[in-house]
Amino acid sequence: MSMIRPNPFQFRCPKCNYIKYHHPKSDVLNPMDMVQICPKCKISMKREELSGVRKVFGGLFG
Ligand SMILES: [Zn+2]
Repeated sequence: MSMIRPNPFQFRCPKCNYIKYHHPKSDVLNPMDMVQICPKCKISMKREELSGVRKVFGGLFG
């Protein structure tokens, strides 16, 4: 039994810096949650934390 909601994250293309946000719909591991291909470069993008979240909270509390 899992009560943990998956955190949204983003994929960034290391070549053109294209960013695609991704929000997992459940905690069931989906291949789409792991790999995304840049539509421009056709290469796999790097998965990373959602950088915008930190900025928002930094603005509210910082
Ligand atoms: Zn790209």
